[in-house]
Amino acid sequence: MGGISEACLSKLRSIFGDRVITDEEILKQYEEDQSYIKGKPSLAVIPETSEEVEKLVEVAKEFRIPLIPRGGGTSLSGGSVPIFGGIIVDFKRMNRILNFDLDNLQVLVEPGIIYENLNAFLSKYNLFLPPNPATGDQCTIGGMLAENAAGPRSYKYGSIRNWVLGLEVITSSVGKVWIGSRTKKWVSAYNLVSLIVGSEGTLGIITKALLRVAPKPQYRIGISISNNNLEKACEIIVALTKLSIDISAIELMDDITIAAINKAYNAGFPESDAVILLEVEAFSSNDMDNKLEVLSSYLKNLGISDENVHVYYNADEMWSKRKLAGESLEKVYGGRLDEDIIVPVSFLPETIKEIKSLGSKFNVNIAVFGHVGDGHLHPSILVPKEKSLTPEIEKIKENIFKIAVKNNGALSGEHGIGITKKQYLSLEIDANTLKLLSLIKQTLDPYNIMNPGKKI
Ligand SMILES: Cc1cc2nc3c(=O)[nH]c(=O)nc-3n(C[C@H](O)[C@H](O)[C@H](O)COP(=O)(O)OP(=O)(O)OC[C@H]3O[C@@H](n4cnc5c(N)ncnc54)[C@H](O)[C@@H]3O)c2cc1C
Repeated sequence: MGGISEACLSKLRSIFGDRVITDEEILKQYEEDQSYIKGKPSLAVIPETSEEVEKLVEVAKEFRIPLIPRGGGTSLSGGSVPIFGGIIVDFKRMNRILNFDLDNLQVLVEPGIIYENLNAFLSKYNLFLPPNPATGDQCTIGGMLAENAAGPRSYKYGSIRNWVLGLEVITSSVGKVWIGSRTKKWVSAYNLVSLIVGSEGTLGIITKALLRVAPKPQYRIGISISNNNLEKACEIIVALTKLSIDISAIELMDDITIAAINKAYNAGFPESDAVILLEVEAFSSNDMDNKLEVLSSYLKNLGISDENVHVYYNADEMWSKRKLAGESLEKVYGGRLDEDIIVPVSFLPETIKEIKSLGSKFNVNIAVFGHVGDGHLHPSILVPKEKSLTPEIEKIKENIFKIAVKNNGALSGEHGIGITKKQYLSLEIDANTLKLLSLIKQTLDPYNIMNPGKKI
């Protein structure tokens, strides 16, 4: 139990009883997330209430011990890895729905609830929480809030930040705070909700979240469009963003990704240089037919004929195949390092071209897929896990980030900075702004116990 004194342990036991985990074998599950980074926790606790978390923060302050909140452990940036040891705060038992307000379309939840479990509850009322990360069956609302998670549907509905009304947060500066409001509009205070969302557990621990939810669309269909020119596909994507037929998602997969999904899972995507995936929403089947007609003539004007277009009348069938992208690349290439840069959509063709040349220069396969309707890309460097942390791979990563910044973009659109991108942050953020971010961190977390070493 590196760094934890008997006095500290006894205080923790008085709060959590047998929910203090010190067994080395059990602690192994907390050593890594999905980022290939590793660290050994001193111990873990499993809170059941926000009052317990409040008491925990007081103990951590007294003994100056890092606290590392952990949801589903699916972070790709090392967010929940205990790089300096410390206490893992495992939210698996704080997974309740505390209040559901149907008339105001709001739900108050604890952070440990799994995204798809919340949606299963909401679907009984024909409602849903739209931002849909690919890991929705494992990731928690706390982790999604901390990373400002998004997904294919974020093209229409935005990231989870757009769906938060209020948060209960335990800080090391002033203890428990409630930020936000139950109202749809609100300007009484600084927008601390937006500050906490995406802060990766470095400013405080989220213990409750008040979320907006939306009525489910009546009809959703999936459409795949294949094209034998990746650059041309990007131009089509830019053109599609100007089409007003209620498109809720625009995705792209390159030839490497398509071939990998087809090989690993026999997904049946047309083997081509690029496949664009769309989701269109409608309120009736007539409305959908009209939209498809508009789309078909729009695509013809862009040089795409009907034989390159496939309609999935069950959109989920298409998405279940798309979800296999990362996994398939790992299977076929023995591992991958997944980045998540974002650029304004009009810069996609240039960005993808430069990333592909980078692959040729370093003689390594880089697959490209992602939520391109938002300008979001997942360049995946295809190397086995054991070769992923070499200086050469770091160089490729650095170059990918430089390409993103040069094209007016950012290092991360949804996976966060964590530990894996921290050293590159100054490529994007200027020195004065970094200083301001540090001052905010010091104000909210003067003891530097909230997930230290991550993000800034
Ligand atoms: C195959 C794959 C596909 C993915 N696809 C997507 C995608 O489509 N969209 C997307 O956005 N992300 C995606 N991700 C990344 C990841 O799933 C998301 O970031 C997810 O929201 C993390 O949630 P989690 O519960 O697993 O959090 P964890 O990994 O446990 O933690 C993530 C961060 O949140 C912090 N945290 C957790 N709980 C709290 C809390 N209560 N208070 C404060 N901080 C907290 C942790 O300390 C850590 O910094 C993908 C990951 C993988 C492996």
